[in-house]
Amino acid sequence: MTTKTTSVIQTGTTLVFVAPWECSRAVAQLPRTPDDSLVVCFIESVDKGASMPWHRQKLVLILSAMRHFADALIAAGYRVDYRRAPGYAVGIAAAALEHHSTRVVATEGREQEMVDALDRAAALLDNVGITLELLPDRGFLATREEFTRWAGKKKELRMEFFYREMRRATGLLMDGRDPVGGQWNYDKDNRKPAGRDLLMPKLPHFAPDTITRDVLELVTARFVGHVGSLDDFGIAVTRADALATQAHFLAHVLPRFGDFQDAMLSGEPYLYHAHLSFYINCGLLDPLALCHAVEAEYRAGNAPLNAAEGFIRQIIGWREYVRGIYWWTGPEYGTRNYFNAKRPLPAFYWTNETDMHCMSQAIGQTLDLAYAHHIQRLMVTGNYALLIGADPDDVDRWYLEVYADAYEWVEQPNTRGMILFADGGMLGSKPYAASGAYINRMSDYCGKCRYDVKQRIGPDACPFNALYWDFLARNRDKLGNNNRLGPVYRNWDRMASETQAALRGAAADTLARLDAAPKGY
Ligand code: FAD
Ligand code: SF4
Repeated sequence: MTTKTTSVIQTGTTLVFVAPWECSRAVAQLPRTPDDSLVVCFIESVDKGASMPWHRQKLVLILSAMRHFADALIAAGYRVDYRRAPGYAVGIAAAALEHHSTRVVATEGREQEMVDALDRAAALLDNVGITLELLPDRGFLATREEFTRWAGKKKELRMEFFYREMRRATGLLMDGRDPVGGQWNYDKDNRKPAGRDLLMPKLPHFAPDTITRDVLELVTARFVGHVGSLDDFGIAVTRADALATQAHFLAHVLPRFGDFQDAMLSGEPYLYHAHLSFYINCGLLDPLALCHAVEAEYRAGNAPLNAAEGFIRQIIGWREYVRGIYWWTGPEYGTRNYFNAKRPLPAFYWTNETDMHCMSQAIGQTLDLAYAHHIQRLMVTGNYALLIGADPDDVDRWYLEVYADAYEWVEQPNTRGMILFADGGMLGSKPYAASGAYINRMSDYCGKCRYDVKQRIGPDACPFNALYWDFLARNRDKLGNNNRLGPVYRNWDRMASETQAALRGAAADTLARLDAAPKGY
């Protein structure tokens, strides 16, 4: 098998494969000017489309962004081969043969499935004497090797220290060797609950053009029964529209981005979140250019430091860190199950038939928009999955399926690592388990719920409360020595044994009801 990693594309008789997440010239591996001996190849993989019941808006976003990018390249004079194929490997090999290519160039696989597909393509190409060359991924700031070097032999990895290295390496928000403002991290300023009187900026909506309308028709016809309405599709699918969303973010959202990062409000899916992950992850936006634009807003006095730092941390810190963990640990990460959790995910994750108002808000908007913001994913749907002992495989699948920004490299560490602690503490130092009190503090959900967040036991008690204590009690052998959970276990130990038994009994009832109810998709 002939694969080679290089950093420069030599123009020649070459086929360049553009992965579905490389939907702009900011990310794709293309020479600046078209050349007749260069063919740019896009593949709509039938196998990939059929591999999961993907949210239909996600399918439209990716397919339409690919088609628009291909059209833009044709308009700029590039030769483009846009094809549907059973899979990426056979598609690449067939295109290379048809175009009499002597070389094929692609970006290294961003997730394991693409690595496997490129390996298969390399084997097919090798049989006919064609070389496959792999280039480093332009969608990230750090290379995988740089992350591995940083991780070294550390026993514990923490995002914060990686993030500081990234600040130093990029020079973002730095004054020489020191962080701007004297602190690396302003997260403590970013936990304000949002009030109903807050005026939320309206997210731009883009009416579908002919290309998107074709894709909408295709997805409607072929992906029957998948979640997600296509009636009012308005997601950006071109570089220009993604840049317009970025400009909207910089002007209207960034100044208050930090303050309300952890807040949740009924009927407000976006609050002051960026809603840019859809576009960064499919290649319509360049993460480094975006961070420079954010820094420029801060330096011009248009955004406070806690907002600019908070946003830049999400991109060069969290986004890079989870991708680093994904590759550093390898495919084995996707099998981890520290608590040996086995419960199937309840069917209401797909139907939204639940009377828990917080869950209904987070799931409802996920089904409607293929989007939920971080705290909803982490502290509502994720927290519930953790507390009930949901099977990490089920949880991975749900998050991958329903979010338009979800790809395995980012979804898996967030899901298996951050919410389920299935990696035993590699990504985070403790599980983000929380009772209803947290949700009540950060949202207006509980006031609209049929359950009482203050009650722990009884038919009207918030289910999160008993489940929270039961989770801690039943996993004490695995969590009892965690220093950060010491005070919580001390609270549990101070409770009367009758209270402890009643809480565990209430949780057992909830879990038994879940076991008797419909499950899965
Ligand atoms: P903002 O809140 O405005 O954040 C700005 C940007 O920072 C995001 O656009 C994103 O690019 C980046 N970012 C922030 N946190 C993370 C993080 N933990 N990991 C990676 N990038 C981050 N993000 C995805 O992009 N794809 C996923 O599949 C995904 N799955 C998640 C699953 C769970 C269980 C959790 C807890 C988080 C997940 N995240 C995922 C991270 C985060 O929730 C989303 O990036 C964010 O909600 C996207 O919305 P936004 O653009 O409005 O983000
Ligand atoms: Fe959610 Fe409990 Fe609050 Fe209801 S009371 S919204 S279930 S946290």
